[in-house]
Amino acid sequence: MTELAYKSLQDRTIEHHSFGSGKLSVLAIGGVHGNESEGFLFLERFMDELTKGNINLDSGITLHICPRINPDGCAVLRRTNQNNVDLNRNLPTKDWSGEFTDVRYFPGKSAGSEVESEITIDLIQKTDPSLIISMHSYEKAMVNYNGDCENLANAMGKKNGLVAKGDIGYPTPGSLGTYTGWERNLPTITLEILRGQEPGPVWDQHLDGFMDAVHFYLKNPLPERKNP
Ligand SMILES: [Zn+2]
Repeated sequence: MTELAYKSLQDRTIEHHSFGSGKLSVLAIGGVHGNESEGFLFLERFMDELTKGNINLDSGITLHICPRINPDGCAVLRRTNQNNVDLNRNLPTKDWSGEFTDVRYFPGKSAGSEVESEITIDLIQKTDPSLIISMHSYEKAMVNYNGDCENLANAMGKKNGLVAKGDIGYPTPGSLGTYTGWERNLPTITLEILRGQEPGPVWDQHLDGFMDAVHFYLKNPLPERKNP
């Protein structure tokens, strides 16, 4: 079996790092939308502070962080990947559709057509997470949750002051929340940080809630998975 190279279309390395060696695996992904720097800058600082020992995870946790799954988009602050595909519409969900209302949401030529989507799925298979946190930003900041994890989303929202919502207000076929959350009941948080916020205030607002989320299933029962 050949290993999938974690390289973008423009040959940028898609970095991912693991912290800790506990039983509970958590996967945090950033930069799906390259113009949403609030999320990937948060994760990069989080990795930095972990490395310096300024933040500590419980020994029960293994935290996998892929800060920029769409490094080509992140490099030029563009939502889409190099093929102008919205990666959060390209995952092979059952409801995937080639239709789109705006070029910003171009879902690609076929479900899962993009290398970054293949890498996302590979990363999920390799890390086998009990929770996925995907970092985005939006004018309507919120803790969006998919899968049976409203309790986790509410706990996070208590710390960061954002409302927890199971529905973002419009359908998102091909999204991570649909792929892992709805179709597999793998708790999936899409954290929509307030768009345009500076990195310092983002950090201050979100650190506690993020830490609580990472550790949530050490103390709470995991929802039962389902097969799509
Ligand atoms: Zn986004």
